[in-house]
Amino acid sequence: MLLAIALASTLAAASADAAGTAIEPVPFTAVKITDAFWAPRIETNRRVTIPACFRQCEETGRIANFDAAAAALAGTPGPAFKGNCYDDSDVYKVIEGAAYALSQHPDRELDAYLDQLIARIAAAQEPDGYLYTIATANKRGMDARWKDERWSHETYCAGHLIEAAVAHHQATGKRTLLDIAVRFADLLVATYLPGVASAPRSEVPGHQGIEIALVRLHRVTGSQAHLDLARHFLLRRGDATGRELSGDYCQDHAPLLEQRTAVGHAVRAGYLYTAMADVAAITGESTFDAALEAIWRDTVETKMHITGGIGAHAHNEGFGEAYDLPNESAYLETCAAIAHALWNHRMFLRSGSSAPIDILERTLHNGMLSGVSLSGDRFFYPNPLACDGMRRFNHGTNGRAAWFGCACCPVNIARFVPSIGGMVYATGPSTIYANLFIQSEATIPFEGVSVGIDQTTAYPYDGRVEMRIRPSEPREFTIAVRIPGWARSRPVPGDLYRTVTSAGVQVTGMWVVAVNDQPLVPPPMRDGYALLTRRWKADDRITLALPMSVRRMESDSRVVANRGRVALERGPLVYAVEAVDAGGSVRDLVVPDAARIAIETRDAPAPGVPTLLISGERVEADGVSETTFAAIPYALWANRPGPQGVGEMAVWLPRTRDLAEPKPAPTVASEATVRASHTWDSDTELAVNDRRVPSSSADTTIPRHTFWPRTGSVETIEYAWSEPVTLDGASVYFFDDTAVGGGCALPASWRLLAKRGDAWVAIEATYPLERDRMAAVRFTPITTTALKLEMVLDEGRSAGILEWTVE
Ligand SMILES: [Zn+2]
Repeated sequence: MLLAIALASTLAAASADAAGTAIEPVPFTAVKITDAFWAPRIETNRRVTIPACFRQCEETGRIANFDAAAAALAGTPGPAFKGNCYDDSDVYKVIEGAAYALSQHPDRELDAYLDQLIARIAAAQEPDGYLYTIATANKRGMDARWKDERWSHETYCAGHLIEAAVAHHQATGKRTLLDIAVRFADLLVATYLPGVASAPRSEVPGHQGIEIALVRLHRVTGSQAHLDLARHFLLRRGDATGRELSGDYCQDHAPLLEQRTAVGHAVRAGYLYTAMADVAAITGESTFDAALEAIWRDTVETKMHITGGIGAHAHNEGFGEAYDLPNESAYLETCAAIAHALWNHRMFLRSGSSAPIDILERTLHNGMLSGVSLSGDRFFYPNPLACDGMRRFNHGTNGRAAWFGCACCPVNIARFVPSIGGMVYATGPSTIYANLFIQSEATIPFEGVSVGIDQTTAYPYDGRVEMRIRPSEPREFTIAVRIPGWARSRPVPGDLYRTVTSAGVQVTGMWVVAVNDQPLVPPPMRDGYALLTRRWKADDRITLALPMSVRRMESDSRVVANRGRVALERGPLVYAVEAVDAGGSVRDLVVPDAARIAIETRDAPAPGVPTLLISGERVEADGVSETTFAAIPYALWANRPGPQGVGEMAVWLPRTRDLAEPKPAPTVASEATVRASHTWDSDTELAVNDRRVPSSSADTTIPRHTFWPRTGSVETIEYAWSEPVTLDGASVYFFDDTAVGGGCALPASWRLLAKRGDAWVAIEATYPLERDRMAAVRFTPITTTALKLEMVLDEGRSAGILEWTVE
């Protein structure tokens, strides 16, 4: 107990020290967004996304799970628990989003819906405050609690409950959900916090999130224990005292303060780093700074895609090595982009530097916004930077999906999009920071006065910004206007991405800031901000002009996937080329350094989109032709899906012809329609005749077909032709990922059957089993309209095909 008191008083003292210097965000409730870019997205989020997410939570049993837990507690019959252990968090996240929507737009019906939902949540809470429906509904009992934190998500769900509760309380003034959350938080304190818990448990949360939530709760309750527990959870991470570490997947591989690189699951990591900055900001202590700064540099200088997305790999939903940034297989979960945005906002609040806001802006406009369709009811879980138009890369869908079994991303969008206004301005000592350019009306309480700022702009499509300042009385202070890094030849901190300056001769133009039409050339600058200090009075006007020319970007040559390639940017937007704007294919295009790029405003896929018209080249099997194709903002891709989902897409395009992939000539196989007895959700049977040659049987860079998870069975895949074909040979490139721990191997045997009338007749031949090459077979010529490849799978092994040719 002594230790706890000592710690508490140290923190309280640090808090008092920090109070005078902290930078505080201006809450989104004080910033009314009125623009043509974000306002429609926020409105669609309110009208479509939030109701769609609630409907999905109803239909999938996520909300009934609370009734299941309540029934188990009451000893009455109720529904059975359905779904995943973390599903409670989806309901909480939509409630959080709904609360934000309520604070911007009163809605009696939504308010009443939340009330009945909260009553059902209350009924599912155990008498001591525990609230985790899978455990309560299944009557797991006290002994089963907190046992498997790495995977169980008990504290993760608690975190989202708390965030929803604080949002609901702030939006409605009601304490119904807040009281539930406080009881759960107090149980966590009594379970984990040394000095309070009689036998404190030694685990750390598996999936972070609770730490951010506890800091947020502390701001409302003032409870020191809530803040102390957040800090305790942070400092216990990587501390092996009394427990076994769970490794770098959960950032639990080394003591947190000694960590210097971004590792593991990207959403967990992003929430962890956000909480570190939160605790540092609120306590004023510098304990976390060295780790935070190093991990942030490691991320933005070596592990971030140009869209601001993080977590390059699917296998760990997380970070790879430095510069390991693939495009087509890039994972870049929507939740990770949101976590990255939150983290960078906190890094700014901690430092007052504009560099994290540059990253925040990049992430918001690209890797986060791509996660939701313009219609508001279709989502991406991964946000890759290239698409082959075939692979079901989006958790089983080639294109956007209405929902996912693990639905963290849609509900995260639902709660994040309405809160964006809270990142536009911040206040520090004698300073108002103008961070984001979004047309809006803000009323900012500031050092005893109220300062209104009316921002007028068509950003991010146009670079002109006007801010009309309306202090309640004249007052001297500084308005720090962020000059985006991209306008200062510094698109990102570090050198991971830079503007092409060689043969392309890049001229980005100059930015200009003026007060009451008097340009300041140059204004005093600090950390990327133009510092405008004066005695501000009503109707003073700041104008900012940013250069909106198209920028050709290249990446550090250590990023193998981007070598010899260029990406196009304009303002904060990264651009992408989609097949629908490029004559049906993208992989065969070239953007030479001398290619002319014009800008045209188009109304597809959204109104008023500045579209780039690129006079480039197309490489074909028999030569090169000049062609003009369009690029649209990356975040807007996949809003015009065709019957098969989306087509090809690329952000990084070849600068030279040798990197283009000409469309191969049609073959007998490519003319066939394909049908398989089974195809794994993430694969596609269209892979087998796409004419893309694998580099090995373990090649994961091209589309594939597998029968996963089926094992030991007899499976088939068929080609059918509209006209009879005569064949005397076939070759199969088998997929085999056993070398990297996968479950697909060569089959036990295979053979071909040809259709004769209504019957299938086996083709006599010797069928070789070969790895890392085409397994070829020859046979007596046959004429048929369909060919069947039959594979007998090994016991315990599945199988797959990368390519299947016939001749
Ligand atoms: Zn997610």
